[in-house]
Amino acid sequence: MRVLLPLGLDLAYDYRPPPETNLRPGDFVEVPLGTKRRIGVVWDDDADAPAADPAKLRTVHDRIALPPLPESTRRFIEWVSRYTMAPLGSVLRMAIATPGLFQAPRPVLTYALTDAEPERLTAARQRVMDLLRDGPPRTISDIAEAAAVSDGVVRGLAGQGVLEAIESDPDAGYMEPPPDPETPGPVLSAEQHAAAGALMARIGGGFAALALEGVTGSGKTEVYFEAIAEALRQGADGQVLVLVPEIALTNQLLDRFETRFGARPMVWHSHLTGRARRATWLGAASGEARVVVGARSALFLPFKALSLIVVDEEHDPAYKQEEQVIYHARDMAVVRASLMKCPIVLVSATPSLETMVNCWSGKYQRVLLPTRHGGATLPIIEPVDMRREDTPRGRWISPRLEADLRANLEAGEQSLLFLNRRGYAPAAICRACGNRVMRENCSAPLVVHRFGNRLQCHHCDFTMPMPRQCPKCGAEGTIVPYGPGVERLAEEVEALFPEARIAIMASDTVRTASEAQAFVERIEKHQIDIVIGTQLVTKGHHFPMLTLVGIIDADLGLSGGDLRAGERTYQQLWQVAGRAGRAERPGRVLVQTYMPEHPVMQALIGGDGPAFYRNEAAEREMAGWPPYGRLAALILSGVNEADVAAHARALASRAPRGADFTVMGPAPAPYARLRGRFRHRFLVRARRSVDLQGLIRGWLAQVPEKSSVRVAVDIDPYSFL
Ligand code: ADP
Repeated sequence: MRVLLPLGLDLAYDYRPPPETNLRPGDFVEVPLGTKRRIGVVWDDDADAPAADPAKLRTVHDRIALPPLPESTRRFIEWVSRYTMAPLGSVLRMAIATPGLFQAPRPVLTYALTDAEPERLTAARQRVMDLLRDGPPRTISDIAEAAAVSDGVVRGLAGQGVLEAIESDPDAGYMEPPPDPETPGPVLSAEQHAAAGALMARIGGGFAALALEGVTGSGKTEVYFEAIAEALRQGADGQVLVLVPEIALTNQLLDRFETRFGARPMVWHSHLTGRARRATWLGAASGEARVVVGARSALFLPFKALSLIVVDEEHDPAYKQEEQVIYHARDMAVVRASLMKCPIVLVSATPSLETMVNCWSGKYQRVLLPTRHGGATLPIIEPVDMRREDTPRGRWISPRLEADLRANLEAGEQSLLFLNRRGYAPAAICRACGNRVMRENCSAPLVVHRFGNRLQCHHCDFTMPMPRQCPKCGAEGTIVPYGPGVERLAEEVEALFPEARIAIMASDTVRTASEAQAFVERIEKHQIDIVIGTQLVTKGHHFPMLTLVGIIDADLGLSGGDLRAGERTYQQLWQVAGRAGRAERPGRVLVQTYMPEHPVMQALIGGDGPAFYRNEAAEREMAGWPPYGRLAALILSGVNEADVAAHARALASRAPRGADFTVMGPAPAPYARLRGRFRHRFLVRARRSVDLQGLIRGWLAQVPEKSSVRVAVDIDPYSFL
């Protein structure tokens, strides 16, 4: 029998089934591997696989007490492996690498009252009995704490038979009660009602892809909640998966879900405890987890029967996983839905161009919510032409923005300044020789943090104090921060408005879900006058008191020549703009730019999304870029530069040639050295009809692998660094 192990291997190994067990595909088993034991999954037989010599087979040790990995999940794992070209075992590892999954927690003993009377009734004993008479069974320590008695008192009562022990399922405590679709929801507007109807009509009808597109504040969440309610109503075992890009920021969503459905959904992300993760995993497998809200890896949960997938903020770059198995969760979610034969809804105010093109071609059904709920108007977006503004050197807030911030502050309203750069300054340079301070084994500049005190690498956890001497020319006291980060901007705001209450929202100031929640609450309670934030603030919050948004450097994302630079800038700035004036108060957005005539700025200022998409699509189509063409990147890396370069040359000499694709490279990657590894890149651009994976497989097969050089394949790359 074949057993797939969660290792970087493409093959399932052959084992002899243990006597007298009836193992079936999907079962979890423990098998010998070398001198160790490993947990793997019995995989389906493959007629093409070479038969192993039965005499040499080792025997499966044991079956693990877990529900089997369903067939639909196994097919999905195979699909993802084929598409991303990641080894099957690596994809399996993602699906089952769940801390605590294989360790059934010890059963928990809880105690309940019997009819027996204690030998002697003390006050302490009475308290215990009163507690349990009115409440559910509890653990000893729980009882002792609640009744303010020692453990010994409780044990004593148990010894006399006054309390009886009940063995309870330790996983059960982590299961949320089922959401109730009949809890009344809000009254939908006519527009929302129509949109919800369009989604609901697809539930139970097999695979369908829909794009729910609506401006921020139009009620997209309320609308997809209706689709979830319909999915819950239709079948007793229909499950729903809601993917979100940033789980740390989704508390608002979980609260709203609870208001709508009377219970919280199960959640899934890497910061959960092992037990909570195990509970969600088991709930997905048993069908008891009716709704799971999770980060991208939730796609690999062993759902019993999905009846709807929702991808919230589907344009968000966080859906692309860049490590190990390199995949795009939105795209794989569509595959998951088609394999599970259920509808999928891609939700965004600023859809990805991929989704838009699929709507235009009729592959996806487009469902629109064109207006904000409750008559709130969209913010007014105005450019600030930085070429005309007399902004002092070393400052980033133009006189125009400063005046508006002051007016807003005096009016007692909230403002947001957006700058997508963590830390104090993006680089430290030497005034004497112009050197950018880098770490020896990295070609990414070190970022200045903690108000100028430290340098930090954003690609690993390296930090160092700001050097007094230039590492290159040796000059003393010449290293200075270069450019603005949110910390430096905060300094500027403090100097301009000493009376204002300010706070920075970035991934290093707001790290966990509870920190994010606390931060959002401070904004909502108006304990902050000026919020300074990175892209973290763009994600789905309501700040009803916020009426002014200043975009410090709107051009920032446009440099660098990334094929999605324009699209990302448009999405990000439009999302930030959407934070303003959501309730009765209209919002204003000031966009500081050196190129107000750029099509992205024009589309933003004119509020003309359709023009942006048409323009962007035309450019991509002409150049054959995605989604009109296909792309794949090969990233070679290793600690020995000569080895990497030699392997790149060897691959280059075997590069395939053809009329409908081009191989570009090799070239040193923009970050030619990262975490001590030298990096070279190839880029393959092909027509959509080309079997890109086949092409690359054939190419790689011609050049013997080199153990010192890692070759990572990135199908549909989003990062070009
Ligand atoms: P989006 O997801 O499009 O940004 P939301 O669903 O978050 O929009 O809705 C924006 C705000 O308007 C939320 O506070 C939401 O509760 C409220 N809202 C939307 N639709 C309704 C409705 N029909 N009745 C009451 N409140 C609504």
